[in-house]
Amino acid sequence: MANKPDKVMVIGIDSTIVPRLYKWAKEGELPNLQKLMDRGVFCRNALVPYPTITPPNWTTIATGAWAMTHGITDYDTFIPGRELDDTRNGYLAEEVLAEGLWTALENAGKNVIVANYPTTWPGVLKNGYQIGGCGLGLTDWRVELPISAGNYGSLTLDFLITTDMYPFADEVTFKKASGWQGVELSPAALDTEVTIALRRPRWPMTAPKFYVALDKSAGSTVYDTVIVAKAKTKDGVYCSVKAGQWSEKVYDTFQTVEGPKKAVFQFKVMELSPDGQVLRLYCPGLNATEGWTFPAGIEEEFVKECRGLPLGKTGWEALVYDWVDRQTMGEITQLQHEFQADASYYLLTHKPWDYFITHVHPVDWIYHAFGQELDPNTAPDKSLIPAWTALELEIYRQSDWALGRILEATDLEKTLVVVVSDHGAKAAGKRFKVNELLAKAGLLVYADEGPAAPEKETTLGARPQRKVDWNKTKAFAQRHIHIYLNVKGRDPHGIVEPGEEYEQLREQVIRLLYDYTDAETGRKPIVLALKREDAAMIQLGGPRVGDIVYAVDPAFGLEHGEFLPTAKWGIGDLHGLFILAGPGIKQGVEIERVVRLVDVVPTVCHLAEWPVPAQCEGGIIYQALEDPNGKNRELESLRRNVERLKRMVERPPMC
Ligand SMILES: [Zn+2]
Repeated sequence: MANKPDKVMVIGIDSTIVPRLYKWAKEGELPNLQKLMDRGVFCRNALVPYPTITPPNWTTIATGAWAMTHGITDYDTFIPGRELDDTRNGYLAEEVLAEGLWTALENAGKNVIVANYPTTWPGVLKNGYQIGGCGLGLTDWRVELPISAGNYGSLTLDFLITTDMYPFADEVTFKKASGWQGVELSPAALDTEVTIALRRPRWPMTAPKFYVALDKSAGSTVYDTVIVAKAKTKDGVYCSVKAGQWSEKVYDTFQTVEGPKKAVFQFKVMELSPDGQVLRLYCPGLNATEGWTFPAGIEEEFVKECRGLPLGKTGWEALVYDWVDRQTMGEITQLQHEFQADASYYLLTHKPWDYFITHVHPVDWIYHAFGQELDPNTAPDKSLIPAWTALELEIYRQSDWALGRILEATDLEKTLVVVVSDHGAKAAGKRFKVNELLAKAGLLVYADEGPAAPEKETTLGARPQRKVDWNKTKAFAQRHIHIYLNVKGRDPHGIVEPGEEYEQLREQVIRLLYDYTDAETGRKPIVLALKREDAAMIQLGGPRVGDIVYAVDPAFGLEHGEFLPTAKWGIGDLHGLFILAGPGIKQGVEIERVVRLVDVVPTVCHLAEWPVPAQCEGGIIYQALEDPNGKNRELESLRRNVERLKRMVERPPMC
């Protein structure tokens, strides 16, 4: 009985490269992770489900079910009956076909808190508390968006106000300041007004107009101060901020099609030239302080108590666009970590809970933003690897800090803590697109013709999608790992006859994949191609999986997704993170066996004596337990005691 935890915390860090994480933990850089490893077990051999990507694998961690069972089978979801290129961001909770542990627990009268956990929107709880789940950060919005739309931000993504030319920035020119009332400006002050070009707002809204003034502070001979305002009045001033500094947090309300929405934001002056001719003013988005909790409206309770900002997907696009430098990207991810950790801490210390589950995302953005810069295989400038690695380590440190902050909210002697990731990552390798192979073989025909013009490859925001001629197309690769044949009677414009033609075509496509050799490197990009029914051996199948699924050599393609869970390339490694600590768990032990993400739920349920969710398919990680047969012995002893009591009660009275 002593080994039964009172509470369970599952804390996820997305996309960790675990050999790097374990090394840094050992070197003392990640003290909270190291402390947990010392008090518990860890595993270098944790295998995540295939594909190695976010929505399905967090869903596995929450349900104990494989993707073929829970139905989230890739980054974006595909529901049979739609056009084959109609795939949508996989964050809609209703598309999950397996019960989450949260539901089994709420049905058993337990209390649950879910924080920023992918694929849980518009909510998975009846009585508990949930923040986020509609994307990867609290104000990130991806639910059901067509994949070509990328992600939205509530209220908006980040923006840059600048005198220079930067991609997607708001360009301004300054003139002598005028018309300011009740605001003290020097005679040298300059000003401008700018209507912000909204980048992918969740709710269509009126673009806000800001006034920006540049000034010299008292006694200064150079421009060193930026004033940002919504009106040229004393009350209209948001903030006054020095070159190189962040402003204080600003709160305001903006008009959207769904009515006024409250937001919090900050500015950083990235650059202000002494003569006032050059300005670069960055804002990491107008971040809604409503619209991302269950029950609705609980943001009010804690938004102003949290450090940092409720950011969405912010920072790495800014780095790629050159809006901000490395140090600032680290500051932005710190703002995100601070807010999420403080909000979690607030809920954990103010609301009842038995089970808490969360995920933090910034580590994943490291590899999408600058994975190539980190790896000697791919770095465009090897001399910069140490600088990029310092930023990578800084973001791991922040996730470690957030973990520590969250753990402060519980008694570790009585809490089972699982730290886990959904997949690893690697640097992007050589470009490889299955649809180009299919087009060359005449199996895929584009309506916008042109012989297989390369699709624009980008992991940023919206993606251009080519128009397919479905009346001539027999096979189409969609998402990361799926190829569908365009089947008559099944797909909206199907032309492949079910039966013999279908089977022959599948064989032809599989041969096409295996036969292809990259002419330049001599490598074969396809390492695995399976018919849907054969994919059961990698726990995939059913109508939400392609007629063929494939996997790609890690020397090709982007950072994660179409690479096997065992793949390694350069500094990259697709294995998952797994640390388990708390009552009943061995201490300071590395477990050698393979741990799978489906094993998290049953192991938690075994230890906490909780009901197992309906579709759970994993097993108990017995090798992590101090006493793998402890529950059996406890049951035997209870049965013996009951028998003894029964014998006594049933015994004829002694007189
Ligand atoms: Zn992920």
